[in-house]
Amino acid sequence: MAGTAPLTPGWSNWAGNQRGSATAILRPGSPTDVAEAVRSTAAAGGRIRVTGSGHSFTAVALADDRRMDLSDLATMVSVDVAQRLVTVPAGMTLHALNGLLARHGLALPNLGDIDAQTVAGAISTGTHGTGAAYGCLSTFVEAITLVTGTGEVLRCSADEHPDVLAAAQVSLGALGVLVEVTLRCVDAFVLHAHERPAELADVLGDLPALIGGHDHVEFYWFPYTTRVQVKTNDQVPANDRPLSRWRGWLDDDFLANTVFAGACRLGRAVPALAPGISAVSARALTERRYTGRSDRVFCTPRRVRFVEMEYGLPREALPEALAALQRIVDGLPFKVLFPVEVRFTAADDIWLSHGYGRDNAYIAVHQYVGMPYEPYFRAFEEVATGLGGRPHWGKLHYRDAASLAAAYPRFADFQAVRDRLDPHRVFSNPHLTHVLGA
Ligand SMILES: Cc1cc2nc3c(=O)[nH]c(=O)nc-3n(C[C@H](O)[C@H](O)[C@H](O)COP(=O)(O)OP(=O)(O)OC[C@H]3O[C@@H](n4cnc5c(N)ncnc54)[C@H](O)[C@@H]3O)c2cc1C
Repeated sequence: MAGTAPLTPGWSNWAGNQRGSATAILRPGSPTDVAEAVRSTAAAGGRIRVTGSGHSFTAVALADDRRMDLSDLATMVSVDVAQRLVTVPAGMTLHALNGLLARHGLALPNLGDIDAQTVAGAISTGTHGTGAAYGCLSTFVEAITLVTGTGEVLRCSADEHPDVLAAAQVSLGALGVLVEVTLRCVDAFVLHAHERPAELADVLGDLPALIGGHDHVEFYWFPYTTRVQVKTNDQVPANDRPLSRWRGWLDDDFLANTVFAGACRLGRAVPALAPGISAVSARALTERRYTGRSDRVFCTPRRVRFVEMEYGLPREALPEALAALQRIVDGLPFKVLFPVEVRFTAADDIWLSHGYGRDNAYIAVHQYVGMPYEPYFRAFEEVATGLGGRPHWGKLHYRDAASLAAAYPRFADFQAVRDRLDPHRVFSNPHLTHVLGA
């Protein structure tokens, strides 16, 4: 074992809404160390939670016994440029991965809003970006190596243990410790970003053409208004319209973080101003176009802290869900300070993926830290559940295993693999017991 820290300073996630202290912190240096740690923990009747970058809003990564941190785990990096396959340590951040891929003329086909997550953490909760033809990041996974709850090191791919692969591509860390992940990449590419304000009704009225006509589409609805900001990203041959450093800093850092943080603080101190702030924000956003390296266009810094719930819905349910959301926001006894984000993904066949078997529209509701949010999130959840929604595994929700089993046709198959790989529930915690069952 490379390191078992005797002291266990408190751990908290990015949003600061999940905090806890583990009984020990395990820092394995190799897959053999991981296997030894799992075997000795199982023998002692203990539990392990692996944490990535702590960017989940739920208690999914919270350790109630031992916490495993994989930042010292040194496995081989291998890049096969001809096959566009890369194998990396599971604890590598997406930021580091994007840099590695760029140096080899490769890229991930799609990404979410940020790149701070680890590869394992991102795929374990079904992290996704937007793009009607793109599945979540787990759909790029070709193979994984994981250490099971009995300390067995298992390599899984389409040829070896394909059932374990289908379960482990989105697994909430319930099947074992991912030590290595092989991802299918694409040639490095440039995106042309176009951001523009619009009316929500116009966007919804033309939605199939909008999402079918661009590689990646998302929009933000500003509560208390009828306005949205639409963002499309399309692959182009040349990076001929880059943002100047100054404009990039002004828009993506200063306005999106510093000014927005100030507006949120004001809205929290004087809630009656929130609708006005939302309206001013919606009006202040102007049109802009630029090009850039794909990962740099997909991902931007997020420094304003918030809590979030996100639901994947059958795409056709989007207008009804948004109409209900507008009524919910108007009826709340407090104000909502964050815009609502809408994205799109393609169907996949990963058992616990939010996109299993269907094209999704995602609706993400946020609230600034320190503001009330539970009645808002619960009311939206009731609507989303009624429309067949599946909650993001890394974002706040209130569903339990019985209710989630009904939303995922392969839930029982996942449990069967879990029983086989982790018979003693070494990789459980109270949150997992709640959402996956004992
Ligand atoms: C600012 C912000 C922006 C975000 N943007 C998006 C977005 O655009 N799209 C989206 O879908 N989500 C987004 N998320 C959610 C985020 O992508 C997920 O919660 C993701 O799981 C976080 O990854 P992490 O490395 O921080 O993992 P953690 O939150 O630390 O852990 C997540 C899960 O992975 C498990 N895990 C981690 N490492 C391993 C391992 N080696 N083996 C087995 N299990 C492991 C943990 O046990 C836990 O169950 C965002 C979150 C924040 C805070």
